[in-house]
Amino acid sequence: MTTEPIRDEDARLAALHEYDVLDTAPEQPFERIVRLVQKLIGVPMATVTFVDRDRQWFKARRGLSLAETERSVSVCDHTIRNSDPLVVPDLAADARFAHLPCVTDTNPIQAYLGIPLLNEDGYALGALCAMDHSPREFTPEQIDILSEFALLVVDWLEMRRMAQTDFLTGTMARRSFLAALEKEIARVGRSGRPSTLCLFDIDHFKRINDTYGHPAGDQVLRIVSSLCQEGLREGDLLARVGGEEFAILMTETSAQDAFGIVERLRKAIKAASIGDPGLKVTASFGVAQHAAEMAYPDVWLSRCDQLLYRAKDAGRNCAVMAED
Ligand code: GH3
Ligand code: MG
Ligand code: MG
Repeated sequence: MTTEPIRDEDARLAALHEYDVLDTAPEQPFERIVRLVQKLIGVPMATVTFVDRDRQWFKARRGLSLAETERSVSVCDHTIRNSDPLVVPDLAADARFAHLPCVTDTNPIQAYLGIPLLNEDGYALGALCAMDHSPREFTPEQIDILSEFALLVVDWLEMRRMAQTDFLTGTMARRSFLAALEKEIARVGRSGRPSTLCLFDIDHFKRINDTYGHPAGDQVLRIVSSLCQEGLREGDLLARVGGEEFAILMTETSAQDAFGIVERLRKAIKAASIGDPGLKVTASFGVAQHAAEMAYPDVWLSRCDQLLYRAKDAGRNCAVMAED
């Protein structure tokens, strides 16, 4: 039997990656859902599965030991090809699945119920599954229960994305950025590769608000952040860390190289003419490569902050880089 093709697989993967959920630590809401699924449907195994390009990865799992498997041996990869539940009372009796390792295993999965996790654009990110070690039927009520929980899984995904995103500008929110910095510090410690952080603040922003009103100020924040986003490379992180203060993490980048990128951003902001009255703004930047003594995100950020203040003192609309 052939499997159905997936509509616009690249867009589906892009949608999945937007949630930043793959390879993250267990989170209570997903853990609770799989526990409830186990109890309410009476199954030994339940998972929240996300289907990545070449693998399925379990955000939460009960009764299964593997954290991920190849996509080619995944039952959930079939579930995401349809918006309906996939109900398979006996996997061993179904030609699509009988040969899969999880079915031929010594402790096999024999019955499978999977509900696709559809985001609001209709992309199936993965599946919420209930599985049993022996063949069995699933009642319509059990299918309904699992379907409701699948909606809850997607609701929670959306909530955690909102918490990670700054509402006004769509950039990363402060708290997530601090978590990303912490990871980056650990990575730099292991690899010894350079990494550079930049903090910038819009110059005389109060005047914009005072003269043109708060909505005009908001518009400036949105345009400035989108100018930056366009000027950065994939993998660079942009976050709004304060009212009119942004931070950029440039991984695998020395301060010298970052300085060139920052100078381009500074010029792009200065050149922009924003909104109807054609507002002009500038920004000041502090740029510091990670150094051994910066064991915590706030140490690295305050180094950038000192440099940013030097840029303000030097007359604004400029970038200052650490000398060391
Ligand atoms: P400097 O060049 O020294 O940075 O001057 P500044 O006026 O930009 O600095 P200051 O920190 O005094 O002002 C920042 C202002 O940013 C104050 C606050 O009203 C404004 N602000 C903070 N958050 C927002 C926001 O979400 N929207 C708007 N429109 N303004 C904001
Ligand atoms: Mg400020
Ligand atoms: Mg300012």
